[in-house]
Amino acid sequence: MTPDRPIAALFAGNRPLRSLEFFPPKDDAGVEALRHAASVLKRIAPDFVSVTYGAGGSTRERTGQVSALLKNELGFTVMPHLTCVGHSRAELTTLADRIHAEGFRNIMALRGDPPRGSTTFSPTADGLNFANELVGLLKNRHPDFCLGVGGYPEKHPEAQSHDSDLDALQRKVDAGASFITTQLFFDNDVYFSFVERCRRRGISVPILPGIMPVLSLKQIQRFTAMCGASMPTRLLRRLQATDDNPEVVEMIGLDWALDQIRDLVAQGAPGYHLYIMNRARGALALAAGLAA
Ligand SMILES: Cc1cc2nc3c(=O)[nH]c(=O)nc-3n(C[C@H](O)[C@H](O)[C@H](O)COP(=O)(O)OP(=O)(O)OC[C@H]3O[C@@H](n4cnc5c(N)ncnc54)[C@H](O)[C@@H]3O)c2cc1C
Repeated sequence: MTPDRPIAALFAGNRPLRSLEFFPPKDDAGVEALRHAASVLKRIAPDFVSVTYGAGGSTRERTGQVSALLKNELGFTVMPHLTCVGHSRAELTTLADRIHAEGFRNIMALRGDPPRGSTTFSPTADGLNFANELVGLLKNRHPDFCLGVGGYPEKHPEAQSHDSDLDALQRKVDAGASFITTQLFFDNDVYFSFVERCRRRGISVPILPGIMPVLSLKQIQRFTAMCGASMPTRLLRRLQATDDNPEVVEMIGLDWALDQIRDLVAQGAPGYHLYIMNRARGALALAAGLAA
């Protein structure tokens, strides 16, 4: 088994990267649908794909199952996500060893969200408090891991201020993170001003912008409320004007995302990360639009 290339080396190639994010399905039928979507997406040759880590229960096992499928069966460079939620240090160390033994060399290291119904995160016994501690644990255990971390252009909802949030981001990079993937945003100015603030602080690692093409007004309003991302009035008005007709909403969402990505890349972003919700269509349409 050949270990994956570190994603940091891909950034060093100095061309815009394309990455796609999958989530672990709840059941076998969902895994089949994902396998189909991912094999269709081979056509657009993403530089890497990532697989999210659930808040608990069986979907966590499926992160491993889906990551292995994407790596071993379909040949993608895969970055499984890992969070601190519900894990002791010893469990995280075991998971790190397992991920490493399976040939993965890239992990998205996160704290994770507080459990549903709770607004504060509390670590488990002998667990970790913040993502920078997870970065440290993983790097100590396997120095050849290449770690991504989350960044929040509009501030993480729990952070006291933009400054304290940047302090937290700096700690993750100081602990060994090689790149940052951002939370979704719809206004590129938000991204560029975040990058500028990071650079002024001396955070110099690549900052990959996270883009989510809108698929439904209700769904996106739920996501943005949860993660604190703002929705430009121009986009909101367009979506409201469609009366939530799914096909029209998808067209508007793709049109917006395409404009965003074109401008990001033109202005020097190191690529883009697509939150694709396990669907191939949007990513294919965007890749076609960008090829023009
Ligand atoms: C690209 C991306 C992928 C994601 N994937 C997943 C996933 O797969 N599974 C999942 O459950 N969630 C995922 N999330 C969501 C993420 O888990 C949540 O946003 C979570 O609330 C914060 O995680 P973090 O790693 O950014 O935490 P941290 O960097 O630890 O920050 C959490 C909060 O604590 C603050 N903070 C950090 N350090 C300190 C300190 N020392 N003292 C005081 N305050 C501090 C920060 O400012 C922030 O407000 C993802 C987010 C992003 C951006």
